[in-house]
Amino acid sequence: MSERLHIYEQISAERDEQDAKWGNQLHSIPVWSAILAEECGEVAEASLRVEFQGEAHLAHLREELVQVAAVAVHIIEKIDSGDWVRPEG
Ligand SMILES: [Mg+2]
Repeated sequence: MSERLHIYEQISAERDEQDAKWGNQLHSIPVWSAILAEECGEVAEASLRVEFQGEAHLAHLREELVQVAAVAVHIIEKIDSGDWVRPEG
């Protein structure tokens, strides 16, 4: 469990870095989903580097996975707090 807690701590630290970088982000759910998909694309790119260029790229892949998890946590926080842009109409 301590290994998992260490990972959760890294995800939380990444969340803090996102807030420091972007401030309070106010988006619709589809925009949030697009942001998450963009981060998933970076995971796919990093995975291909591991596949074709070797395990030296695993650390970068791991960083990208932490970013994906942090964005997912961010979306969950927004849903829970109600702090997201509703569709008009
Ligand atoms: Mg990324």
